Amino acid sequence: MVFVADEIQTGFARTGAMFACEHEDVVPDLVATAKGIAGGLPLAGLTGRADLMDAVHTGGLGGTFGGNPVACAAGLGAMETIEELGLVARAGDLETILLERLRDMGTRHPVIGDVRGRDAMIAVEFVRPGTTEPAADICGAVAKAAHAAGVVVLTCGTYGNVIRLLPPLVIPEHLLNEGLDVLDEAIAGATA
Ligand SMILES: *Cc1c(COP(=O)(O)O)cnc(C)c1O
Repeated sequence: MVFVADEIQTGFARTGAMFACEHEDVVPDLVATAKGIAGGLPLAGLTGRADLMDAVHTGGLGGTFGGNPVACAAGLGAMETIEELGLVARAGDLETILLERLRDMGTRHPVIGDVRGRDAMIAVEFVRPGTTEPAADICGAVAKAAHAAGVVVLTCGTYGNVIRLLPPLVIPEHLLNEGLDVLDEAIAGATA
């Protein structure tokens, strides 16, 4: 059995380790990376055991934009920045702020059924108050109100009732708090 870790969203310091699988003490056979690898420029990678990587026929692993020099330079810059600014540790600081603020919102907004995640990757689940029944309509209304107030959030989850927050690891604290203020007001507005 081949174990593939999709670290496209969780990789590059997002979860308070360079890669999320480090928290689980496992060594994947293949690791897929993208997104944070180049700070937003289009770059993706597949890293793995030599016998797996070499099993592909010549030219069988790649893409139209593979090895783009500008994206590769951005990738090196992103990795330097992660090191220089200590962003692996900063992800943990962001978690502290996110969890404290979101748990406080949870005490005031009974539509918040759960707050979960790891480091700078935190999700808020919306439910019918007092139940675990998904409230996708409220979640959508919150996202729409936040968007109207200038904060773009993504809804996700099997039932479309979850908002996930993955702020930039370099976000200033005041901006994160401002974004959370908007979210707080959006929830109040959507449930009034
Ligand atoms: C964004 C994302 C993908 C898709 O990545 P592409 O580089 O756009 O193909 C796959 N898996 C996860 C977990 C993602 O977040």
